[in-house]
Amino acid sequence: MRTNTPAAAIEPDLQLARALFEQLRRDSDELHGVAHGITRDTYGAGEQRAHQLMAQTAHRLGLEVTTDAALNLYLTLPGRKREAPAVMTGSHLDSVPRGGNYDGAAGVVAGLAVLAGWIAAGAQPQCDVTVMGVRAEESAWFPVSYIGSKSAFGLLPAEALEILRLDTRRSLREHLAECGGRPAGIAAGEAHLAPARIACFLELHIEQGPVLVEAGEQVGVVTGICGSLRYRHARVLGDYAHSGATPRSHRRDAVAALAEVIARLQQDWAAMERAGQELTLTFGQVYTDAQQADISKVAGLASFGVDIRSRSTASLQEMERHLLAAVAAAEEKHGVRFELGERTGSQPAQMDAVLQDELQAAAQDMRLTHRRLPSGAGHDAALFANQGIPTAMLFVRNGNGSHNPDEAMELDDFAAGVRALAQVMAGRARLAPRH
Ligand SMILES: [Zn+2]
Repeated sequence: MRTNTPAAAIEPDLQLARALFEQLRRDSDELHGVAHGITRDTYGAGEQRAHQLMAQTAHRLGLEVTTDAALNLYLTLPGRKREAPAVMTGSHLDSVPRGGNYDGAAGVVAGLAVLAGWIAAGAQPQCDVTVMGVRAEESAWFPVSYIGSKSAFGLLPAEALEILRLDTRRSLREHLAECGGRPAGIAAGEAHLAPARIACFLELHIEQGPVLVEAGEQVGVVTGICGSLRYRHARVLGDYAHSGATPRSHRRDAVAALAEVIARLQQDWAAMERAGQELTLTFGQVYTDAQQADISKVAGLASFGVDIRSRSTASLQEMERHLLAAVAAAEEKHGVRFELGERTGSQPAQMDAVLQDELQAAAQDMRLTHRRLPSGAGHDAALFANQGIPTAMLFVRNGNGSHNPDEAMELDDFAAGVRALAQVMAGRARLAPRH
């Protein structure tokens, strides 16, 4: 027992981390056969294997292993005072189809590496320290934000259980039950986590943009997480007509109307940016009906999806007002009808100022290059923060973005991030030598 090592300086088990990443890669590549990339499908075989791997590892380390109705995984090192609010860390274990190995999983592996280091050094926290493997974070499978973390707090609406997975066309209820979960517990609003019982939540995650790589910095302390406002299944209804024989005055052209909306919103976006607002606007899906559209037809139908993101609720709402105004103008001018369909989205979240300072101090102590930056992508940490739990995120430098097979986190950068995370966790959990 290295009782003379200061608790905050106990080395995480990085060999364990390396082995877990390798096993995860083997497990999630194999499932995909010849296609390139990592697939850990939500409430499917890929996510299941990742959860099994983390649970087995935790059993081997002697941690307490529990799950909730949604099959979120909780791996706990008991503290001296079990009644004290717990320190939590973690992230999600699912991935987008043909994604990379680190988005999500890095945060769970980091937590296990920290606890394994503490156990090997014979240190014990004052309060419980729990690593959470969150379910269903990637909305590429079920088009709902934060299914796992919402369920953990009993906040997932019962209707969400009927939503279909986009590839299998089978419901969340069915997939969850098949994996051994309890849809009835979710429908009843069963809460496994209570905000008052959580001292803080820390999520380590790879950076999904190019900021740290371009700046030559190893880690980033996240200031806030963007929320989103989306119309995933919007349509413009016009009239199909002969492209040569229909004069302009007689057209109800769905594509022309949609193009005008898109162009006008680009201008509104630029104007909002000039006024100092930070947001993004993306029309990531725009298409005509492959069965009916033709080069020699005016398009009678155009379908699209629009995604607006910002750290500010006011900016999300302002862009939505611009969208509705542009739609009304295009309807009037082109004689078409827009059906925006269901609006979905998630709330922006601010990260805890004190925890940000603690992460930054840890990075400084370790002479890591770092900066503060916002997260454009959504994370489960946003859900924790919006429950009033002090929450922070640490980004690790990562090349080539995420949600693709070429994520390129260096294990040295990961190690640096895990050490900073461990220092903050040790301080919050008042880690001490076991006696
Ligand atoms: Zn992620």
